Amino acid sequence: MTLSNGQSYLAIPGPSVIPERVLRAMHRASPNIYQGELVDLTHSLIPDLKSVAGTAHHAAIYIANGHGVWEAALSNVVKPGETVLVLATGRFCEGWGEMATALGIHIETIDFGNAADVDMTQVEAVLKADTDQRIKAVMAVHVDTSTGVRNDIVALRNTIDTAGHKALLMVDCIASLGCDEFQMDAWGVDVMVAACQKGLMTPAGVGFVFFGPRAVEVRDAMPRVSRYWDWTLRTEPEVFYQYFCGTAPTHHLYGLRAALDMINAETLPAIYNRHRVLAQCVWAAVDAWATAGTMRLNIDDPTKRSHAVTSVVITPPNSERLQTWTRENIGLTLGLGLGMDPADGYFRIGHMGHVNGQMILAALGGIDAGLKAIGVPHGAGAIEAAATVIAKAAPFQETDVSNCNTGCCGG
Ligand SMILES: *Cc1c(COP(=O)(O)O)cnc(C)c1O
Repeated sequence: MTLSNGQSYLAIPGPSVIPERVLRAMHRASPNIYQGELVDLTHSLIPDLKSVAGTAHHAAIYIANGHGVWEAALSNVVKPGETVLVLATGRFCEGWGEMATALGIHIETIDFGNAADVDMTQVEAVLKADTDQRIKAVMAVHVDTSTGVRNDIVALRNTIDTAGHKALLMVDCIASLGCDEFQMDAWGVDVMVAACQKGLMTPAGVGFVFFGPRAVEVRDAMPRVSRYWDWTLRTEPEVFYQYFCGTAPTHHLYGLRAALDMINAETLPAIYNRHRVLAQCVWAAVDAWATAGTMRLNIDDPTKRSHAVTSVVITPPNSERLQTWTRENIGLTLGLGLGMDPADGYFRIGHMGHVNGQMILAALGGIDAGLKAIGVPHGAGAIEAAATVIAKAAPFQETDVSNCNTGCCGG
């Protein structure tokens, strides 16, 4: 039998759950792309995007996914033959490095493995050894979606400064923006890339490059930048058509407007808190499972874990079996162990964007059922532990029932 009919939960780390409000905002006829509502709406997105990124500088929007803005960011500031330093803490920064290689850029990689964050001592040593300042940019991911690690971007900025290096700091926030706190200007980030289908709750297809004054200087000294990726006209368009180097991603812009309205209404501090508590709820469950058998959280130190995605180590081939079971039997789709070695010894739970307490508890309950169904040894009390985290974070208040106590609803 199957128990999968009903509202399903795509708990992969992107694309994330799309709010009804975003979907409804997109369900409309094509707007005029030269004047009127869409033009005003697009102008209204820029300050809101910048505020989510924590920057007062520039935001360029591209019709592209995360890989597109990886290429866009590099194309504006690094030319073929120049060198960048890739801080690999999982599949995603490696992938960004491969993108640089494909653009003819020379990459130097420090590989921190699949279960650790960036070790600043090693970064400082490499930057200090680069006495003729060949390294033009340092590339890092804020949250690596494959391992679930969150890198300390403030420490990375300090390390670059301490080494006396003038390299640009480029950060991938595709998984973290709108989930984990990020402050582009305060943290001294020169270029940041993000996309709309994770914390920003919009269907995949639009990406962003945020850049500050040092990046502008570097861009201006480039001999040429491919027209489509050039961020200059996109941020200072003479006519609206140039915002997107052609036709605007009309429906995505409506969806994004609705998503940003939701973010503004909830406020960023509340959003970061929600993600933190939901992540702690997931960790509590996995820690309970880990008390028997071999499952465990991939990142040991809770201060280095993402609040948007959790990577769980599980004995192969149980990851594959668990994902198949939850998908086919209860309508819960978990993330694969992406780029991990061996990949089927991991699974990932996306808890980014439009997710709440009952969704996470249901997902954890579904995983618990799956472990029992496929016979993976695991500790008891996971759901109890997860529910306790939620209960503590949201203690009962008398006002919760005041509407009924007044008798106004007859009950
Ligand atoms: C999802 C993701 C990407 C890739 O984004 P695409 O839209 O799939 O190209 C890159 N980096 C990080 C950190 C991600 O989470």
